[in-house]
Amino acid sequence: MNTNAFRLAVMPGDGIGVEVMDAALAVLDAVEKRHGLAFDRQTIPGGAHHYKETGTALDEAGFEAAAAADAVLFGAMGWPDIRYPDGTEIAPQLDLRFRMNLYAGVRPIRAIPGVPTALADPRAAGIDLVVLRESTEGLFTSRGKGVIEDDRVARDTLEITRDVTERLTRFAFRLAERRASRLGRRGTVTLVDKANVFRSFAFMRKVFYEAAAAFAEVDARHHYIDAMALDLVRRPWDFDVLPMENMFGDIMSDLGAGLIGGMGFAPSADIGDAHGLFQPSHGSAPDIAGQGKANPTAMILSLAMLLDWLGERHDSQACAEAARAVEQGVDAAFGSGEVRSYDIGGRDGTGAIARAVIGHLGA
Ligand code: NAD
Repeated sequence: MNTNAFRLAVMPGDGIGVEVMDAALAVLDAVEKRHGLAFDRQTIPGGAHHYKETGTALDEAGFEAAAAADAVLFGAMGWPDIRYPDGTEIAPQLDLRFRMNLYAGVRPIRAIPGVPTALADPRAAGIDLVVLRESTEGLFTSRGKGVIEDDRVARDTLEITRDVTERLTRFAFRLAERRASRLGRRGTVTLVDKANVFRSFAFMRKVFYEAAAAFAEVDARHHYIDAMALDLVRRPWDFDVLPMENMFGDIMSDLGAGLIGGMGFAPSADIGDAHGLFQPSHGSAPDIAGQGKANPTAMILSLAMLLDWLGERHDSQACAEAARAVEQGVDAAFGSGEVRSYDIGGRDGTGAIARAVIGHLGA
């Protein structure tokens, strides 16, 4: 079998999800030619506007096609004005995480050359950490199951299991090992929790250290979530891989994105043992949708993560090289000063940034 041929599920979704997806697919076209790769793409409709038109956010055939593909490339889904009868938003990406068991939400926070960081300290240019958001349990276990009693009290429950915590911990340490060899330094995994107050987090910490014992080459530490909010602003360059509960990761990954230029620069991957879904950390951005102003960098870097994951999983050298080329293309496009996106005060739109990245793929 040709290990350089893959089935790709493409889910553009709503708003700028569609626009940044077009940009990423243009980069993929260029990458296929250069690296001898072939992606058989299947576009899957879904999202808030699809729900408005059809009454279904993502139909069963869409789920099945996503699960059957080698990887899923996802834009963004959701639109504030389109809601379910209970008032909650359309978010099939959460259903996909649960149904495909995508427990590891990988959210790299890396300073990109030429992109201003939020911190004046020159060490901010060296920010390179990963928020690892557990994505199938925690407070989100309660999604759709919360209880409101007599319009008086509302209750949602947080759940931590041994099984998922062990898997997340092993994932975190393997990620830290890979990063250590790339960055040429010893890796550190820091569990972020609230073990001083809640039994669930004390349990999570106990299981974390039990599972961490199998990884002698990487340091294991812990940090309270409130202190981490402080330290991610004070000294983010000191951190490496940060596993944490679902809701904590939801919040801290946005804080991290704010450090390195905003949501337009924050890629992500939702990984399970059998599937991988790759998407920018941002949403459908109704305030700028349809204007060509969306920054496609987060989406393009998510494509790089997809290529890297396929490269490792299928032992494909071409995929691994393509992943590095895309990341280097992004760094060169911004680092050279050739482009500056709207979200950092520039005038380069979605298409211009994609073209600049493509132009630097061989760099
Ligand atoms: P958002 O990420 O869409 O936008 C937040 C802010 O960041 C906006 O000002 C937006 O213009 C800006 N922004 C985001 N991405 C950008 C980009 N690539 N380039 C330039 N600017 C960018 O978050 P929101 O406004 O809270 O949510 C909008 C909708 O998206 C909601 O319906 C929400 O539920 C949905 N959402 C979906 C996902 C997902 O699909 N994974 C994630 C978050 C939000």
